[in-house]
Amino acid sequence: MMALAESLPTSHDSPEARRYNRIHRRLSVADFVVGALFLVVLLRTGWSGWLRDLALRRGFQNYTLAVFLYLFFLLFIAKILGLGFDYYGFRLERRFQLSNQRFRSWLWDETKGFLVGLVMAAIVVELLYYMIRQFPQNWWLITWALFMGLFILLAQLAPVLLLPIFYKFEPLENEDLRRRLVLLGERAGTRVRGVYRWKLSEKSKKANAALTGLGNTRRIILADTLLDNYAPEEIEAVLAHELGHHVHKHIFKSILVQAGITLIGFCVANLVLHYAVDHHMFEELSDFANLPLLALTATVLSLLLMPALNAYSRFHERQADRYAFESIANVEPFISSMNKLAQQNLAEREPAKWIELLFHSHPGIASRVAAAEEWSRLQNAAAHS
Ligand SMILES: [Zn+2]
Repeated sequence: MMALAESLPTSHDSPEARRYNRIHRRLSVADFVVGALFLVVLLRTGWSGWLRDLALRRGFQNYTLAVFLYLFFLLFIAKILGLGFDYYGFRLERRFQLSNQRFRSWLWDETKGFLVGLVMAAIVVELLYYMIRQFPQNWWLITWALFMGLFILLAQLAPVLLLPIFYKFEPLENEDLRRRLVLLGERAGTRVRGVYRWKLSEKSKKANAALTGLGNTRRIILADTLLDNYAPEEIEAVLAHELGHHVHKHIFKSILVQAGITLIGFCVANLVLHYAVDHHMFEELSDFANLPLLALTATVLSLLLMPALNAYSRFHERQADRYAFESIANVEPFISSMNKLAQQNLAEREPAKWIELLFHSHPGIASRVAAAEEWSRLQNAAAHS
């Protein structure tokens, strides 16, 4: 009767997984701290003002051009400062056999990443200072509304415009699997507009799957590292989880939450800028040397909100898991796919509680597997009573 002991997953993490995640975490924290310190140093030493003057001289005193040059200087220096961490991260993946990406390919990705980041940041920052100059009173409210529109547009464009810069995609060719997945989508009340094979293997050995985009670009992407190594039932289980996000309208809810937080952020940013001007740190609101102050405000806010947002995300993940349990024939493929993923991605099945609370957007694999087993146990109990 009691097969519970045997069915418990072998959930203890290998020393290798522990070590990889510990190094990875320290690397992220160090990278973050250096980035934040850079902003503080720019403000405390007056270097930000010096860079602004340089940008104005090189930009022929043209405000718009100077804003772009200033931003370029800032992002370029930040990239140089963080390059050591980026390289270490690249070596780390190789050291733990999680990637076989070549150095040149990595360097090319870094370059593309920097350029894409520069273009997006330039649009955002130019708009921001244009609004501050045009509407010094209500800039924060107007800019917030504008940025929300941009954000939704970007979410739509990302799968067709941004992701293909870094990865190759092709329509899923496996007809049998495709049919299964479309059927699963229909049961979730969504017409699956496209299922794509995501060529992740060139960059990583980790497996992944996602439901991306909005509206017409809403699509399912499945990494080739997943497609090639998992049974159809397991892929179905992974996809059922993704569809759970759709059924529970998680993208829409996340955008709403994001909008609320960003509104608070803009309100705080406006107060901070006024405080800085009143205390003669800057002459006026539109002095773009105050950009590091705005970035620092956003950094502090997101750091404060991170545990709450992660908790919200973990809640969504558990909801999506529950949807998966309900929509597949039995939970075994879900459990085996989870265990495979943990092994393949060198994930910690049982992260320390405080680490999960602070850093993790997903519940630990061990607790997700336990939830699946609990659900199955209750189903069986109900069926036999
Ligand atoms: Zn998920």
